[in-house]
Amino acid sequence: MPEGPKPIPITRPVFGERERELLLKPLETGWVVQGPYVARFEKLFAAYVGADHALAVSSCTTGLHLVLHALGLGPGDEVIVPSFTYVATANAVEYCGARPVFCDIDLATFNLDVAAVEALITPRTRGIVAVSLFGLAADLPALAELASRRGLFLMEDAACALGASIAGRHTGQGCVASVYSLHPRKAITTGEGGMITTGDAALADLIGKLRNHGAEATDLERHHQQGGSLLPAFNLLGFNYRLTDLQGALGVAQMERLEDILAGRRAGAAAYDQMLAQVPAVAPPQVPAGYGHAYQSYVALYRGAQGQEPGLDNLEELNRQRNRLMAAMERDGVTVRQGTHAVHTLGYYAGKYGLRPNDFPHSLLADRLSITLPLFAGISPDDQARVVAYLRHPERYF
Ligand SMILES: *Cc1c(COP(=O)(O)O)cnc(C)c1O
Repeated sequence: MPEGPKPIPITRPVFGERERELLLKPLETGWVVQGPYVARFEKLFAAYVGADHALAVSSCTTGLHLVLHALGLGPGDEVIVPSFTYVATANAVEYCGARPVFCDIDLATFNLDVAAVEALITPRTRGIVAVSLFGLAADLPALAELASRRGLFLMEDAACALGASIAGRHTGQGCVASVYSLHPRKAITTGEGGMITTGDAALADLIGKLRNHGAEATDLERHHQQGGSLLPAFNLLGFNYRLTDLQGALGVAQMERLEDILAGRRAGAAAYDQMLAQVPAVAPPQVPAGYGHAYQSYVALYRGAQGQEPGLDNLEELNRQRNRLMAAMERDGVTVRQGTHAVHTLGYYAGKYGLRPNDFPHSLLADRLSITLPLFAGISPDDQARVVAYLRHPERYF
């Protein structure tokens, strides 16, 4: 086989000596379940995002479930969620027996269309889960105002949002809780993992117990106390949603390089912005004034070779073109992905709630026309130029 150019991955986790060093510590001490490293990781994370409390969990998905459960969500309740997000946002509402009510997005930001949220509020609505998608914060100030005016909770699916800011402050402001993902597709990773941040001490206390089978004390607390031979009280129906200390150690090492990772991603995004400025086929991601984008993903919207306004009338043809273009890039080792999916079009939700693709047109357009470009700290200008070359002449691949 002829030697092609080196493949370009969609992203790449950053690991080094420090990760190797810290990962061995739990093996040396034998303490591998939630313990001292998880506690250290939580402290670093809370300080970074400016939250009073941070609680590590086994994934963002289990974290979302835990917060909604702790807020008392149950059958008969409704929660407003964006229709363009990863499926886990809506699934967490379903796990509680409640109903996710989908809301369309603003195509410029891929985040909740705030004006559309209010019309969806019913007497059953308990809250809103805003998603800060791809590393750009949702319009949390407007959503927080709406939520407080209508007596709802506002919570953030911050899976992609580590490093995102509004007006110079880390995202999460005005939310009862934010939940981050530590999956390898996100800025920092512990393999699997999640982090819940909140300013509510009572909620943090409850979540701390619920993630640990409902136990009133953790293993670490019992280890440091007299009377550790007796099991603690269990007054709640809890879960095992804990993060291991191996992952906690990895998390501590990753936090130490977070600023470098984010700076690397922002530099790569700025380079794409510049290269794509004169490319009509794609609209680069937009950043509203005052927002700091963390670029968990660099997601552009495909607009056809000449740069058309995408709409339901030309969607089918543009979608065909985008898929051909992405397939050609994949064939040549340039890894691209659609941004994420329109959850209301997925079999489970379409079937259960009788939803049609056109019910949320912007989400449908984002699903069918978005392209995530390869981005990671240290991506080379040559590789970025190679990616952009395809976008300059998409018609070659139709
Ligand atoms: C990645 C992601 C999740 C799921 O995170 P896990 O840690 O894999 O559970 C949830 N919501 C959004 C918006 C995501 O991007």
